[in-house]
Amino acid sequence: MISSTMQDFPLDVAAILRHGARVHGASECVTWTGGEPRRAPYTEVAANAGRLAAALARLGVRAGDRVATFCWNNQEHLEAYFAVPGMGAVLHTLNIRLHPEQLVHIVRHAEDRIILVDDSLVPLLARVAGELDGVDAYIVVGDGDAAALAAGGAAVLRRGDLLAAEDPGFAWPALDERSAASMCYTSGTTGDPKGVVYSHRSTFLHALAATSASLVGLTETDRVLTIVPMFHVNAWGLPYAAFLSGATLHMPDRFMQPEHLTDFVAAERSTVASAVPTIWNAILALGETRELDLSSLRAGTSGGAAAPRSLLAAFEERYGLRIVQGWGMTETSPLGGMAFPPPEVEPGTAEDLDWRMRSGRVAPGVEIRITDESGAELPWDGVAVGEIEVRGPWITGSYHRDPAPEKFRDGWLRTGDIGTIDERGFFTITDRVKDVIKSGGEWISSVELENLLMGHPDVHEAAVIGIPDARWDERPLACVVLRPGAAATAAELAGFLDGKVARWQVPENWAFLAELPKTTVGKFDKKPLRARYRDAALTVERITPADR
Ligand code: ADP
Repeated sequence: MISSTMQDFPLDVAAILRHGARVHGASECVTWTGGEPRRAPYTEVAANAGRLAAALARLGVRAGDRVATFCWNNQEHLEAYFAVPGMGAVLHTLNIRLHPEQLVHIVRHAEDRIILVDDSLVPLLARVAGELDGVDAYIVVGDGDAAALAAGGAAVLRRGDLLAAEDPGFAWPALDERSAASMCYTSGTTGDPKGVVYSHRSTFLHALAATSASLVGLTETDRVLTIVPMFHVNAWGLPYAAFLSGATLHMPDRFMQPEHLTDFVAAERSTVASAVPTIWNAILALGETRELDLSSLRAGTSGGAAAPRSLLAAFEERYGLRIVQGWGMTETSPLGGMAFPPPEVEPGTAEDLDWRMRSGRVAPGVEIRITDESGAELPWDGVAVGEIEVRGPWITGSYHRDPAPEKFRDGWLRTGDIGTIDERGFFTITDRVKDVIKSGGEWISSVELENLLMGHPDVHEAAVIGIPDARWDERPLACVVLRPGAAATAAELAGFLDGKVARWQVPENWAFLAELPKTTVGKFDKKPLRARYRDAALTVERITPADR
């Protein structure tokens, strides 16, 4: 028997902070203000994180206590990302767009004791403050009016005052790397939100993986525009990866409109930007009305939902921007894979785009398999379609106070995503289990129909849902938003799909809407569309094959 001689060095969030502050102290967190941006070198971020940690300790926050944030993507939120886990408490990033009842449920379920709230968001949080009886204190970021929060009986403190009373040299405690560092609830696109709790170790390993060239490949030469909110799976891990790699962080604060985002890129020369497809689509639409300078971007990443081929193609053609898709979920920290084409493929070719239409190639550190309904493993042949299951050091093995046994199988997380995987580990999500349309014993991929429809020049957005059908069980209903001034008809769009998918997969049910409902993180929200259909609140046009 021989023992390893390696040190048992804890992989914790404070180690990420120390590295960023010491080695990349001049890298910056740049927060957009709509005017002159605010800049803070990582040394300043680290000093403030230390002050905040000391202030929390002085307020009586102990190891394992939950400290929530209700904030935009900005410097102060970044400081909380390090302060809270670093001092041993658990950072709970609250989604500022949740419905009030869901927000109350999540704060209570997580047992948040303290909430850091941006002053511009006080009115939103104050709506529910009366119901948050477990919260001891609000720490307000900024000088804006916060009187409305006092109604719930909790203390209302100012972050500025707390930090001014502390020294920067906080002694970060030694922590068990397996202890909880942060938590996030799923955005609930197909079900109720569930809590996922990340450990220090999973956070560290995920951040390290994100810096690798197989995933985001950040280096000190990068300036990363984190469009994805910091309450959406830790902004996909970018803040921690930035501190390990020295990449500068570009934080849009409340200025999430495409006009601001593109002004930010142009002014600060962002090199990488990460967003869900609906945001990329909005940027593309803006580009039709004004000139955009995206020349500094060396790469874009898109995830959270499938990106239409037309979207990736348009960015490449118009702006020379190569967007690579990534796949992940709250349960997977989130990086499970990125779709970088294999070495024999020439960038800029149609083949390159074919590969980027995969959802990802499984990330180093993550194991993947696909299974049939009985749980039997299916081959890696790029053809067999099954449920994707993953396991690994940054994949959740349970949910917070919710065992949910149906979500796990023999130590693997059942993702609820259906797809194929090829012999080299490239996987393609064809649908979610809950969204796939079951027609006459066969499956129709809602994702494929949506992506094809969004490739039609008249279509701005499309979501396809299954509706009950006496003969076929379910049939697709295509819900379409046309571009301004466009006039494509149902028959025309159905004709456009002909030849691109099997004839029986072409929807005969069509609804034209002014806009599609979106989830709190900007994905198409199919739940309200289904409800509107059930309540006969959608005007549905039916066409026959003869019409197209
Ligand atoms: P929610 O499941 O509530 O939307 P998440 O934000 O955790 O919450 O979303 C994870 C889901 O997003 C995945 O299970 C998958 O269905 C979808 N998704 C993520 N990335 C991609 C991608 N590249 N292509 C297709 N679907 C994706």
